[in-house]
Amino acid sequence: MTEADLSPGGKKRILTGIRPTGALHLGHYAGALENWVKLQHEYDAYFLIADYQVSDYADDIARVRESVWEVALDFLAVGLDPEGSSYVIESLVPEHAELTTLLGWFLPVSMLERNPTLKAEMEAIEHPEDGQKEGKSVPVAFYTYPVMQVANILMPRAHLVPVGEDQLPHIELTRETARRFNRRFKPVFPEPEALVGRVARLVGTDGNAKMSKSRNNAIYLKDDAATVAKKIKGMYAGPPRGMNEPGKVDENPIFLYLEAFHTNQAEVQDLKARYESTGVGNAELKAKLTEALNGLLEPIRERRQQYAQNMTRVKEALEAGTKRERAIACETMAQVRDALDLNYLAKY
Ligand code: ATP
Ligand code: MG
Repeated sequence: MTEADLSPGGKKRILTGIRPTGALHLGHYAGALENWVKLQHEYDAYFLIADYQVSDYADDIARVRESVWEVALDFLAVGLDPEGSSYVIESLVPEHAELTTLLGWFLPVSMLERNPTLKAEMEAIEHPEDGQKEGKSVPVAFYTYPVMQVANILMPRAHLVPVGEDQLPHIELTRETARRFNRRFKPVFPEPEALVGRVARLVGTDGNAKMSKSRNNAIYLKDDAATVAKKIKGMYAGPPRGMNEPGKVDENPIFLYLEAFHTNQAEVQDLKARYESTGVGNAELKAKLTEALNGLLEPIRERRQQYAQNMTRVKEALEAGTKRERAIACETMAQVRDALDLNYLAKY
């Protein structure tokens, strides 16, 4: 890895991704996608649809297959340019699996055990919160997935990883791995930087700490205007208050959403002041939020619908991007095999 290890046009590289477990929601948008769209032309960017990383894959293969298309449609809908950047299906670049195996030699289990995101996810598999699902034992794939995430980022020798806050421990692990590998073998990998989105962690519509499909507290990018209105109507809006009773802004998550998505922040400041002095009804706050979100989502929905009528274009986007990443993956693997001296047959 040298200063010269850049893509054509002198561009640094981005690798980031999403698991195909369903359509994408506002948390994905504010925490990650928005930055992807912003940076996609400044960098040589690879957006991974990480099917290997769905750790309960075997439970619901049909859902993963369907979600690959859902995610690709959402990528197109938010404005990721499939020609200027690359959409990649993880398992169609088998080098990801190979590098995962090789890195497994150098990553101590204790490095994984320190990771708080992993701990929380493992706990959720064994003891699901929603009471609907039964707990089960953690699959082996769960232990390899953080290593695979490291391998994914290192694969195109990425410089930057734009993600939501929950991913920071994974990036730290990646940096540590790159440092170790470069020091011990050959300097192959840049040490990638993390970049957290404008909203590091969007709360759910239930006021829960994180918007997430599995918690059933998400507003999806593809939700129609009526669905958005209905979800906002049912949103948690802080402790109960009388009609015009003042309240505390930081107890009402509607304000977090207004801060994140309203186009007129002066108006939001005014609402906050009124909320704490004379009081503002939740219905008014929710009406403002509905208008703001539908304003944001309408063009996204429209584009999504257009692409949904032309799935061959979506397929071409996936095919072309996967092919581009495969080419750089092969380059990286040649460097890695050379660094590890795995070219046994070259001896004679
Ligand atoms: P879900 O929990 O809804 O299944 P996920 O967390 O499994 O979604 P990932 O594929 O793990 O989705 O994450 C994709 C990207 O979106 C990551 O960069 C992650 O940090 C970001 N992200 C997901 N949910 C949120 C959120 N509520 N707020 C901010 N960023 C988020
Ligand atoms: Mg996640």
